[in-house]
Amino acid sequence: MAERTEEDVPVIYLHDIKRQYMQGETPLTILNGAKLALWAGQSVALVAPSGSGKSTLLHIAGLLESPDEGEVYVAGTPTSGLPDVERTQIRRTEIGFVYQSHRLLPEFTALENVMLPQMIRGLKRSETIKRSIEILSYLGLGDRIKHRPAELSGGEQQRVAIARAVANAPRALLADEPTGNLDPHTADHVFQALMQLVKGTRVAVLIATHNMELAGRMDRRVSLVEGEIVELD
Ligand code: ADP
Ligand code: MG
Repeated sequence: MAERTEEDVPVIYLHDIKRQYMQGETPLTILNGAKLALWAGQSVALVAPSGSGKSTLLHIAGLLESPDEGEVYVAGTPTSGLPDVERTQIRRTEIGFVYQSHRLLPEFTALENVMLPQMIRGLKRSETIKRSIEILSYLGLGDRIKHRPAELSGGEQQRVAIARAVANAPRALLADEPTGNLDPHTADHVFQALMQLVKGTRVAVLIATHNMELAGRMDRRVSLVEGEIVELD
């Protein structure tokens, strides 16, 4: 029998996730038993209407928010019982996040923005410079490393945000409508950068998107219906 490898367990597994928000006095159920496995090297599109809980699901998968019920497993480890410091550590090293707006630090260059998460993690400055230049070059930004966010185009800003998200070589990359603010041509370019990373690094990718054309080019498509994940196709 083949030996059990890391790839036998999902990078992230969401098990029976429930999440409610209070709307005044009434509870509003957003996620109601959502289950989803994300695998190394696989890209998954999350396509669902606004307000259906996509961002909530991504925040829970990224350990930015806790579910009311259910469990988030990261590489097979249940995370709900972990102390905050350990959850933060897992989030920093195993998970990268990309938002609709780039959220780069305006005072810092592209290079410094990508260096920062690595410095926080404790890598040596010289090492973070080397790695950051490599990642930015891989994403076609080798000649933009000294630019500040305001000196970059929308697509370039988003690619720097992606470089920052993968700076610590996470196992999972979660992107919340990452091309939502971009024109179709630029969206395509940013999307290609994401897909290049999946194939090149075997990171697991979950992208919330309204763009059916881009979703169609990913490995798998899911939606949220009444708080549960359903497979599309
Ligand atoms: P999507 O990303 O699919 O548009 P969200 O996950 O952002 O959906 O939100 C799902 C629903 O939960 C929305 O109706 C939203 O208003 C509500 N919601 C999200 N975050 C909160 C919060 N912190 N407090 C109360 N309601 C929230
Ligand atoms: Mg959202």
